[in-house]
Amino acid sequence: MKITGIQVWQVDLPLTKPYWLSGGRLKFEQLDSTFLRIDTDQGLSGWGEGCPWGNTYLPAHGAGIRAALDLLAPALIGQDPLALDQINAVMDTVLPGHAYAKAALDIACWDLLGRASGLPLYCLLGACQADPVALNSSISTGTPDEMIALIRQASAAGYKTHSAKIGGSDIDLDIARMDAIANALPADEQVTFDVNRAWTPAAAVQVLNSSTARGWIEQPCQTLDQCLHVAKRVPQPIMLDECLLDFQDHLEAWKQGACEGVKVKPNRLGGLTRCRQVRDFGVSVGWSMHIEDVGGSVLADTVALHLAASTPSENRLASWLSHAHLAVDPCPGQGARNVEGFAQLPDTPGHGVEPDLGILGAPIARYD
Ligand code: MG
Repeated sequence: MKITGIQVWQVDLPLTKPYWLSGGRLKFEQLDSTFLRIDTDQGLSGWGEGCPWGNTYLPAHGAGIRAALDLLAPALIGQDPLALDQINAVMDTVLPGHAYAKAALDIACWDLLGRASGLPLYCLLGACQADPVALNSSISTGTPDEMIALIRQASAAGYKTHSAKIGGSDIDLDIARMDAIANALPADEQVTFDVNRAWTPAAAVQVLNSSTARGWIEQPCQTLDQCLHVAKRVPQPIMLDECLLDFQDHLEAWKQGACEGVKVKPNRLGGLTRCRQVRDFGVSVGWSMHIEDVGGSVLADTVALHLAASTPSENRLASWLSHAHLAVDPCPGQGARNVEGFAQLPDTPGHGVEPDLGILGAPIARYD
């Protein structure tokens, strides 16, 4: 099979309401998503989506993806999309690094592998069948009462695991948030406190040794070394996310004993090929993993959940759905969606999501 053409669409994805991370330091109202379709000489096409969570969450932005595609897409014309390691080798030669900008192309090639083989992605990624994937909510930063109200809303929608966004310069407020949420949580529900890099190591050590909460603490500080410093001085288990951008980062985190779990996200790591490598490493070393994407529509969510569904349950925590926060849906009625706190993967070949061309509008670029 040969790649004969690649078309690209840009779509604004407004959120249903503003969303704050990192103690209110970072505000989000709209995502900038890039969809692409890879066409082949066999008449099959595959779809991918690249979508950072705004431009302040990771060293990534929507226009950066599209600038990189100007270099990457022409280099893939004539390549075999089913040779995924070769596809990634070509992309890494043309443009070292910039992993996030390669994710949509890699994902579209995985979609083609599924369509060509007649198998859903969860099967290609290691599972015979896909049980429903447990979902977690994402709770925007606010006062303790505001955050508890949002958790109660999420509980009513079926979510039993919550990612509560905290962090900031007010140490007493963070201790109050953690203790209030932990005390308000029903016995059968769990919470991860996601700090999104907001604390200094000193603040992290002070808050985490003052709070009585003992759930997961995610990305307390900016760097791996800062998080390692904290991990050695607090009683809670540590989950890492934004500071892990490639396999080497994960290897360092493991070697240094910086965490007990990680977030695994195709649009942070460069697609499913790199994500599967990290997932398999995480299984090997016994990590607990939330497997989900950085942002995007139900297409990005569904791709990530195929990887989650194919991961051993003892290494897997709940998955978040970005599309649940969006006011627009480019793929109506398709993909992995919340039903009482769980999502079922499509059994169709590939990832099983195809955007509505009427909603995408005209492509902004075409390579052939
Ligand atoms: Mg996080």
